[in-house]
Amino acid sequence: MKKTIRDIDVEGKRVFVRVDYNVPINAELKIVDDTRITATLPTINYLIEHNAKIILCSHLGRPNGQVEPKLSLRPVLARLSQLLNKPVSFAEDILDKSTAEMVDKMQNGDVLMLENIRFYKQEEENDESFAKTLASLADIYVLEAFATAHRKHASTFGVAKLLPAVCGFLVEHELEIFDKVLNNPDHPFVAILGGAKVADKLPVIENLLDKVDTVLIGGGMAYTFIKAIGGNIGMSIIDNTKIDLAKEILDKAKEKNVKIMLPIDNLCAKEFSEDAETKLFSSGFIADDYQGMDIGPKTIKIYKAVIKKAKTIVWNGPVGVYEYEKFKRGTNKIAKYVAKSKAVSVIGGGDSIAAIQSLGVAKKVTHMSTGGGASLMLLQGKKLPCIELIEDQ
Ligand code: AMP
Repeated sequence: MKKTIRDIDVEGKRVFVRVDYNVPINAELKIVDDTRITATLPTINYLIEHNAKIILCSHLGRPNGQVEPKLSLRPVLARLSQLLNKPVSFAEDILDKSTAEMVDKMQNGDVLMLENIRFYKQEEENDESFAKTLASLADIYVLEAFATAHRKHASTFGVAKLLPAVCGFLVEHELEIFDKVLNNPDHPFVAILGGAKVADKLPVIENLLDKVDTVLIGGGMAYTFIKAIGGNIGMSIIDNTKIDLAKEILDKAKEKNVKIMLPIDNLCAKEFSEDAETKLFSSGFIADDYQGMDIGPKTIKIYKAVIKKAKTIVWNGPVGVYEYEKFKRGTNKIAKYVAKSKAVSVIGGGDSIAAIQSLGVAKKVTHMSTGGGASLMLLQGKKLPCIELIEDQ
């Protein structure tokens, strides 16, 4: 396991904490959901209680290296200060000497927030001298932003190379849960994979073939598999460059005794739109002028039975076009069954998490990952570059 803030002496030290405060903010600059802020409180409070000087750094949105007042972290500053019940100071310009002066004046237990790190183009370029400036503000680096742990940016990677680096509690929890499901899962272990980008999900299936008992496939990615076994998919989404690999994976799964299950029926539409005419088709028999938009009722029933027996579940990606009311039934049903199950359940990806949240069952799943891309990389069996920089315990 990786070192955490518990494994390092933070007393009187300047601690640079890379958090993920990329929260949704509305047109009136009000925070719509503060989960990402509240999730960091245990780490910040631990550092306050242990007399550290805390420098918080985050990005917000995609300002592409430009100062965009609408993407200022000021609303986050106000909310954090409320939650901590103490003042948090704010450094407007990281490169201005006033920031270093503010840090010099910090007392133990003080908290300072830097302005949106992506206002600087050097951040995403992982500019060395920018990383050095960030590192000069601190003695210790804490990674608390799991969602950016796969990105080699100055504040996630560059600065972590220059300081003793440890994890915060959020990242520790993410790593523990992925370690449990990937290296020591209880069986039956069921992976549910959906979404449109089959190219992202095939490496996940390949990596999981030695670990899982069953893979339930839904969403747009299913049609590349159905095509691979000779089915007619009409106008459904397909990645023609991945048909051979999909076939190879199906063969490998057979050899390894892993069941890869494909939808047997599909709710289809004449156009990719909310009010398109819909019709159910059996898999492999979709009419030429229809496309698959959601898994059908027979598939839902079969998948329900598999999920019910699972002891470990990993779910990434919606099993239909979740954005449209007409095609969210499959994804909502899967969310309901996963929440009902007694299995250790780990959910990744925005749409799957949204489905769980919209049903109000978030508390019933074991873990909803805070990092879509980062969690996908772990499921693919890859290392996260920013985690690799953290010392082992
Ligand atoms: P991903 O980023 O690969 O997890 O893909 C998520 C997207 O997949 C969502 O925007 C869904 O609308 C889309 N999706 C799910 N099922 C289908 C489908 N049958 N056809 C096209 N897109 C789909």
